[in-house]
Amino acid sequence: MAQNSFNQYCRQEADTTALAQKLASSLSHLFQADQSTHLNISLEGDLGAGKTTFARHLIQALGFEGRVKSPTYTLCEPYPIQINSSNPSTATNITAHHFDLYRMRDPLEWQEAGFAEHFDEPGFCLVEWPEKAEGTLPAFDIEIHLIAGDDESARNISFKASSSQGIAVIEEMQTQ
Ligand code: ADP
Ligand code: MG
Repeated sequence: MAQNSFNQYCRQEADTTALAQKLASSLSHLFQADQSTHLNISLEGDLGAGKTTFARHLIQALGFEGRVKSPTYTLCEPYPIQINSSNPSTATNITAHHFDLYRMRDPLEWQEAGFAEHFDEPGFCLVEWPEKAEGTLPAFDIEIHLIAGDDESARNISFKASSSQGIAVIEEMQTQ
């Protein structure tokens, strides 16, 4: 039976890529069903755990063709994404906002920078280092934790969903 949390062991980066692609596929179904949906997703784990790598593969798997760089200095990078762009008449336009709050000096800096409005735009927010905001961010639909494994390229990646939409997304990932 599908559950609202699951773990996957990724032996190498290609496994992480495949997992990010599964999430992309599940998210794209959600956005195709409802264009105005917004999801908040956290990416947690130590420096070098693979948060930005996971975000990059996810955003690219959704069809963004440009470079996905780490938002370490800008705090936030927006990515316009067209889902189902093979048929422009039925394409769904969303925006992914990728945050890295590691360098925030104050927990409310993200609000002062005007980022609060991104937390309900059609699409999703992906937030690295949410703990730097000390509980001032909106609730997360899905929390993703990356933990180093037993060798340099191994990671344990866990998903936990806390809303009905988040649960639907990770349930679909488990049936793919
Ligand atoms: P973070 O954003 O968590 O600080 P990065 O994604 O910037 O981490 O860096 C992770 C590094 O680990 C990258 O150089 C990536 O190529 C490497 N890596 C090796 N194996 C994996 C894996 N299985 N999953 C994700 N990244 C991996
Ligand atoms: Mg990072």
